[in-house]
Amino acid sequence: MNGLPHPDLLPPAGEHPEGHKGDAAAARCPGRVNLLDFDLKGLTDYFESIGEKPFRAKQVLRWLHQYGAENFEQMTDLAKGLRAKLAEVAEIRPPKLIAEQASEDGTRKFLLEVGPGNRVETVFIPEDTRGTLCVSTQVGCALECSFCSTGRQGFNRNLSVAEIIGQLWWANKALGRDPKGERIISNVVLMGMGEPLLNFDNTVTAISIMLDDHAYGLSRRRVTVSTSGVVPAMDRLAAQMPVALALSLHAPNDALRDELVPINRKYPLAVLLAACRRYLTVAPRDFITMEYVMLDGVNDRPEHAKQLIELVRDVPCKFNLIPFNPFPNSGYRRSPPDAVRRFTALLAAAGIVTTTRKTRGDDIDAACGQLAGEVEDKTRRTLKRIDIGQEAA
Ligand code: SF4
Repeated sequence: MNGLPHPDLLPPAGEHPEGHKGDAAAARCPGRVNLLDFDLKGLTDYFESIGEKPFRAKQVLRWLHQYGAENFEQMTDLAKGLRAKLAEVAEIRPPKLIAEQASEDGTRKFLLEVGPGNRVETVFIPEDTRGTLCVSTQVGCALECSFCSTGRQGFNRNLSVAEIIGQLWWANKALGRDPKGERIISNVVLMGMGEPLLNFDNTVTAISIMLDDHAYGLSRRRVTVSTSGVVPAMDRLAAQMPVALALSLHAPNDALRDELVPINRKYPLAVLLAACRRYLTVAPRDFITMEYVMLDGVNDRPEHAKQLIELVRDVPCKFNLIPFNPFPNSGYRRSPPDAVRRFTALLAAAGIVTTTRKTRGDDIDAACGQLAGEVEDKTRRTLKRIDIGQEAA
């Protein structure tokens, strides 16, 4: 146990720790440094800056993320003097937990407040051999994909590191470990609200915490970043933090993708797929997941499937077909099941592994944006996480 006592702060699976609604933890203390904003390097630098031994960083990181400590008094292997000092200058401030819902099939949703009027939703999807948590990286999104209601609502702000990792922090506290001591959350997908690569530094720092053995200890294969194709940032991610990659493709040619995913005008398909090939040289998995929302009569015809097969001929990938969930004034319709089946068959005949999403958590409406009816992310992107989680096992 790395010299730590066994505080067992994490509850058994399914139990909800007393008093973890987040009010105290989320209360802002002006002038204090929020330790949830730091990965190991940041925490090491911070302890040095306050005249403390750098090795304290590993101890504190374990308390914060492995044991879910909410205050410094719980860190019983730190000297009393250091605990008192930290209570003066630092704080542990996750986002505030507003609500939590559990589906009969085990899907769990957490609604978190990230500042006045801003809320994000985190969804956990259990499978037989894994459990996947989907987290958000921004409030709103600036990229204006035409089929996405988050894009329609515009960009509000980037989430801080504490707000990104805080989604895992809360879910991990609520879900805990299985009877064998394994964490219930085995996979994370950065596929909630926002474009992760446009909040690059905070996203990479949060991933660093996810991967750290002193924190959550996830493997790179089990953390997936989903991007709409911000090419320079894909290269930066490859250099700094190569984790599994999913690409929001959604169209087989530039004319259509310009319309559906406007960032394509800046980084067209040839440039984007070249970036995918570069990414695969360092990626922890040997394929990229291509996300493709099926829009009736827009991108779901056999000729579109044939164009896709040509397009990805030299990019190892798997396809995840996502039924579109209409929202007011979207202007699009969901592809009929026959069109999806035909599309899947064409890709499969070309040797491309293709999945369609499964529906989970219907009784609590696990689609994004429905919890408490207040979160603005109505893209229902939750549903595609399920397939990504399966692939990232
Ligand atoms: S699909 Fe993704 S990148 Fe596009 S607007 Fe929606 S959240 Fe942003």
